[in-house]
Amino acid sequence: MARVRAVLARRRWTLRRRRAAGAPRFTVQRAADQRVLCEIVLDSGAGWRGAGRSSLTPALRLRVLSRPGVAWRSDERKGLDELGAALYGLLEPLGRRDRGGARGPASAELHEGKGGREPLLRTTFACNQRCPFCFVPLTGRPAELAEISTDLDALARQGSRSRELMISGGEPTLDPRLPRILALARRKGFRRFVLQTNGVLLARPGRLESLVRLGVESFMVSFHARTPGLYDRVTGSRGQFSRAVAGLTRLLRCASCRVTVNVVVNRHNYRDLPGLVDFVADLAAGAGCRRRPEFYFSMINEAGHEKVPDWAVDLGDVAPFLRRAMARCRRRRLPVSRFGGETSFPVCLLREPGRHAAQRSFPKDRVRYAEGFAGEAGRLGRAKRPACRRCRFDARCLGVPAPYARLFGLGALRPPRG
Ligand code: SF4
Repeated sequence: MARVRAVLARRRWTLRRRRAAGAPRFTVQRAADQRVLCEIVLDSGAGWRGAGRSSLTPALRLRVLSRPGVAWRSDERKGLDELGAALYGLLEPLGRRDRGGARGPASAELHEGKGGREPLLRTTFACNQRCPFCFVPLTGRPAELAEISTDLDALARQGSRSRELMISGGEPTLDPRLPRILALARRKGFRRFVLQTNGVLLARPGRLESLVRLGVESFMVSFHARTPGLYDRVTGSRGQFSRAVAGLTRLLRCASCRVTVNVVVNRHNYRDLPGLVDFVADLAAGAGCRRRPEFYFSMINEAGHEKVPDWAVDLGDVAPFLRRAMARCRRRRLPVSRFGGETSFPVCLLREPGRHAAQRSFPKDRVRYAEGFAGEAGRLGRAKRPACRRCRFDARCLGVPAPYARLFGLGALRPPRG
C-alpha cells in the first residue's frame, strides 16, 4: 500500500473504490480540480465478463479506461503506469475474494492472438515442468467443472467466430478430467481444439490416440531445446528430454494432427535456434511426417520479464539467430507462424517483415510510444518507440513488453524501409 500511497501523493491524485457489482473498479481523480482522470478495473476470474483485452497473467487483468473528454498529459500517463504497477500486487487478492475466495487463479482468458481474440482455457495449474519464465501460478487450485462450464459460456460469447478453443494449463495432459472438459466445450459450441502441451506424456502408448479420438487436431508443443542438458535447464526438469522427443515424434507421425512447435526464445537457447529447426526437421523426416510442423518463435511475455529478467535477451542479439532460424525453416520447408500478438517478436527484426506480419490489427490501449521505460514506468503494458507510429506495421504490431524496454531499451526496433 505504501507504493500506491507514494504514487498518489507524488501526483496529487486520489483513488476511490467504486461500489459496483462485478469486477472491482476504482476511480483516479486529480486532487486539484476533482476531475476523474480514469477508471481502473480489475477484471478477473469468475467475475470475468469478457471485457478484458490482452491478459497480464491468467489471474488478473488491470485495465485503465480513459474518460471521454479527459486528455492525459504525458507525465500523467507515466504516473498511471506507476500506479498500475503499484496496484498490481494489491489487487490480486481482492480479485480472488471477488471470485469467491477459495477459487484459484482464473482458468479462462482471451488472448490477442494472430487470428483475433482467442479463447483459452486452463484446465489445470499442475505441471510436470518448471520453465523459469512461465507466468502461470502452478500452485493454483484448478477450477471445478461447474466453474469451467461458466467460463466456457463466457468464452463462447466473447471469443472469435472460429469456434476454436485453446486448452492449456499447467500441463493439460496431466488433467484426468480432460475428456469430460472437451465434451463440455463441444456442447458449448466449440468445434476445434488446440492443445498446448510439452508433449512428455504423449510418449505413453495410447495417449495421443485417445486425444485424437476426442477431437483434438492441433497441438502446440513447447519444445525449447535440442540437447538434454539445455532442455533440462530451460524446462526446470530432469531427464524428460527423451520422452519429450518421443512425444513429439508420435505427433509428427500422426497423419491427422497439426503440430506447431513453440520455442520460447531466451538467453540460454537463442544461439541454437537454427540447430533446433534442423533437429525438428530431421525428426519430421524420420517420422515420415506428411503435414509439416510449423514453427512459432515466441518472446518471453511481460510477467516472464518481470519474474526472471536474467533469462531475457536483447533483441539486437536475438535478431541474427532468428533470421538464420527462419532461413533454415525455409530451406527445410517448414512453415513459420505469423508474428503478432502478445508473445511475438516485432517483425522489424526480420528480413522480410511483410511476409511474416500479422494480418490483423491489434487494440492499442496498452501500447505506449516512448523512448524511456525506466523505473516503475517500465513494469506494465507494451512498449514502442515514437518512430513506430511511422512504421507500416504499426497497426499489426504490439511492440514489446514494457519490462523488456526497461531492461534493454528500444534500440532494436527500427521501422523497416519501404
Ligand atoms: S518498428 Fe515498431 S511498429 Fe514497426 S514492427 Fe518494429 S516495433 Fe512494430
